[in-house]
Parts: sequence; C-alpha cells; structure tokens
Amino acid sequence: MTNPHDRALPRAVRLAMPLAQDVVEEVAKLHGVCIRPVPLKRLDTHTGRWEIVDVPCGSPLESKCPPCAKRNKQLRKAQCREGWHLEAEPAITPDEPTDEQRWLVEFRADIQAQRDEAECHGGDTTDWDAVIEGLDEEINAAGMRGNVLGRTASKRSRSTRRRQDAPDLPKRKMAHTTLGRTFQTPDGKTYRPSLFVTLTLPSYGKVKDGAPVDPDTYDYARAARDALHFSKLVDRFVQNLRRVAGFDVQYFASVEPQKRLAPHLHMAIRGTLPRAEIKQIAAATYHQVWWPSADQVVFDGDHLPVWEEEAGYLDPDTGEVLPTWDEALDQLDADENAQPLHMIRFGDQVDVKGVLAGTKDADQCIRYLSKYLTKSLGEGLDSQAQRDHAARFVDALRYEPCSPTCPNWLRYGIQPKNAKAGMAPGRCRGKAHKPEHLGYAGRRVLVSRKWSNKTLTEHKQDRRTWVLEALGKTDEPTDPHRYIWRPVPAGDANVPPLAMRLLRSVRERQRWRAHMAELQARADGQDLSANPHAA
Ligand SMILES: [Zn+2]
Ligand SMILES: [Zn+2]
Repeated sequence: MTNPHDRALPRAVRLAMPLAQDVVEEVAKLHGVCIRPVPLKRLDTHTGRWEIVDVPCGSPLESKCPPCAKRNKQLRKAQCREGWHLEAEPAITPDEPTDEQRWLVEFRADIQAQRDEAECHGGDTTDWDAVIEGLDEEINAAGMRGNVLGRTASKRSRSTRRRQDAPDLPKRKMAHTTLGRTFQTPDGKTYRPSLFVTLTLPSYGKVKDGAPVDPDTYDYARAARDALHFSKLVDRFVQNLRRVAGFDVQYFASVEPQKRLAPHLHMAIRGTLPRAEIKQIAAATYHQVWWPSADQVVFDGDHLPVWEEEAGYLDPDTGEVLPTWDEALDQLDADENAQPLHMIRFGDQVDVKGVLAGTKDADQCIRYLSKYLTKSLGEGLDSQAQRDHAARFVDALRYEPCSPTCPNWLRYGIQPKNAKAGMAPGRCRGKAHKPEHLGYAGRRVLVSRKWSNKTLTEHKQDRRTWVLEALGKTDEPTDPHRYIWRPVPAGDANVPPLAMRLLRSVRERQRWRAHMAELQARADGQDLSANPHAA
C-alpha cells in the first residue's frame, strides 16, 4: 500500500489519493451519521462523571451536512402528513420543557455571553452570531415558540392612518374550529377535502431558463424588496384566509426558490375553500412597508456619516446628528403625503388544488413541499446566465435596508435602530444580503400552531417509539434531569480529532443497526441473513 506521506512519490500522485478525512466523511454519510457533530460536555448526575458527547449538527441544508438534512426532511414530511387531514381538533397544551429544550436555552445564554464579551473587546462576532442564529432555529425547531429573548422593546403604536387596511374581501363569522367542513356522498361516505396552494411573486421582466431575457430592464430593485418582505406578505395572506374562511385555518408551508430566484410558497391547508375564493384572497392581499424612504442616496463612497460616542452618527459636512430610527418613523407618521417604502403583492400565478387524505395526490404534494428544503435559496444554478443573474440580484440587495437595524440606513441619512460604532452601508451581515438567501431571511418551513399535536421533537421521539414498538420493546423511561450539558471551549484538548469522532459514530450506528436487525430477526423468527437491511 502506498503511503501518502512518502515524499518520494510525485506530488500529483500524492494529491490524487483521497485525504483520510474525506474518506471518513464519505463513510459517515453512507451510514447517515452527522459529519459536523458538535462536541458537548455532559455531566451524568447518576455517576458524577463528565464526558464529551457528540450531538448532531441538525443542519437542514445538504450543503452543510447531508445526513442531518436528510433526516430533517423526513421528519418534516412526517409532520406535514400528520396534520393535513386531521379529523379531530388537536389538543394544544404547552409541554414541560424537555431536557433538550432546557439545554438549548442554557447553551444559547452561554454563547450570547461569550459573544457579548468578544464584542466588548472589539473582537469579531461573526462566528458567534452564526452559532446563535443556528441555535435560535434549533430552539424553535425543538418546539418552543417565539424568540428566547422575548419581545425586548414595546411595539411602536402607529397612527391609525398607517395601519394596514383590511382588503375588500367577504368575511365569515368565526367558528371555533381548525377543521374544514366535510362532505357526504349519497351512500354515506364522508370526505374531508384539503387544499394545496402555490403562491408566486409578480413578474420583474421576461425570463428564459431561469435568467432574464434582458437583464437591463429586469426590475431587480423590486425583486430585491419583494424577497426581503415576502414573509410579511405570507402573514397577511394567512390573516385574510382565516377571515374569509371563518375558521382557524391551519397550514404547513415551505418557502422555496423559483428558477428565476424569486421565493415562492407551497402551502398545505387543512380544510377547503372554493378555488375562486383563494384566488380572490391572493389577489386582494398586499403588504405595505412603512419604513423611511430609501430611494435617495445621501451618503456614498468615502463620504459617510461619522460616529461620535454619546451623540451617534453625524453628517460629515455639517456635524449635525442624523435622525434616529424612531425619529425617522415619527417624521413618516407626521407626513400627510408619505408613501410606504414598498408595497408587495402576489403575482397572477396562483395554483389551487383540492387534495384528499391518503391519496397519491397527497403524497405527491408532500414531496413537493419538501423538495427544496435541503437546498439554500441560491443553490443549484445550472448556467452561466443564471449565475450572472444571481450575482446581479445580490448586487441589488447590497444597499437595500434589510431591517430597521441594517447599516444601509446610513446611506439614506438615517441612523439604524440600535446604531453603534463601525457601521457602514454595504457591509450588513444580515443573512438577507447573502447569496445563499437572496433577500429571504425568514424561515423555510412555516407550520401553524395547531397543525398537529406534535412538535418536531415529538415527531423524532415518535419514530423512535415506533421502531421499538415494531420490535416488541418498550421505550425505557429516562430521567429528564439526569444530564447537565455544557459547551466545550474551542480548541479543548479533550476533544479527539474529527475523523476519529466520525468513525466512532459510524461504529455506534453499525452496532445499533446490528442490534436492531437481531431483534427484528428474533421477532420474525427468520434468518438474519435473509434480510440484512431489516433495520
Ligand atoms: Zn449534521
Ligand atoms: Zn441589512
């Protein structure tokens, strides 16, 4: 066997040998083992022993961790199927926080403290922010509602004039149900039809094979703003849908990129409404963005506002303090002729499909809903034209304010909310500006609160219970207070190299599979070798 460290070998030959790490990663993927495990310290309170344990990264993106993305997708499919055609109201009671949830929140607090400390010392917080962002998603996925920090500031009260009007739509009396109506056939069969709806943004110019025919006239500015505010439009659609339907409509939706890179929405809706009504609701739904104007560049290039401690950002010429975010909003409220920064609507393409429980159609829709879940929005560009298109889109997003705290507000002469030293237009780290998000920074899966009785964590637990039940074993009760978890500081010498940890996980997985297969074989009274893939 040739040794890659053998310096006598030509360089090209050495490079052609797969790196051990890559091979191990491939093996891990084959076994469905997370390739970016997070090491954690765990105190077993029963034995008093600390140990280092790998937990899966849990990434929903294939580009980051294919095995975790695959598992995540399967769980989402199960969750979607579970709630779509419910026949009885889900019982919603807040659960006791599980060990996982409690740990996540503690961990989140630790990381936040370390991040703040780094910031205090003028350090780079990018990595910390990325971890926190991931954790917040995990915390929500673990079945906790809302943001761990809670609502930190009271919501501004806007003048009545600015409030979004309810569009002109029929309104039914609200019934206290989340289930749709049923239909009976003459022979007494009951049908509980549900809907599958696809909503798309308007056209920004003619597109061919996912790229504009004429990039110069394609409305990138509007496409960028539409993508940035898409999640608000979806919220409005749900509000209107419930108002018109007259019951507490539940949905499981996914936001996915179209080939032209605009976000669009697939939504499984429990219960049914006339197709024409859904189209009417989509057409009447709009969202106005009441933010200060960002259409006139005030500061640009080297001519930028200057930061002064205590005062905030100043006009570099006059030394005047720029209006703060709140002041800018007050000005907007006071101005009789003010226009919203942006108005967003859906396009004409609205697809509505009736779906019955347990049909091939329903399966097809669920596959559709989860098709792109493992891909980031800007992934999978096939042609040079598409890649150029994506680059122009990112360019259009560069100076567009993504949120009230976006440094880009300085370009338009306004201090961002929570302004601090070191901000510069065009250098926002918000994920909306990144090529993999293309303006849409919201959640990719939207599940209404009463979709099913279960959170994603419970679905995970379900699968485990199901396997054990199928094998005639009961899940052993676990003590939820048994373990105390702590993060492992970066560079901790007690963490073995990644390749070694991956191999260990693969070994554990193999052992578990073999064990399951054995139980299965015993249960079936069959020879194990007849079906080596039983588990
Ligand atoms: Zn992973
Ligand atoms: Zn931004």
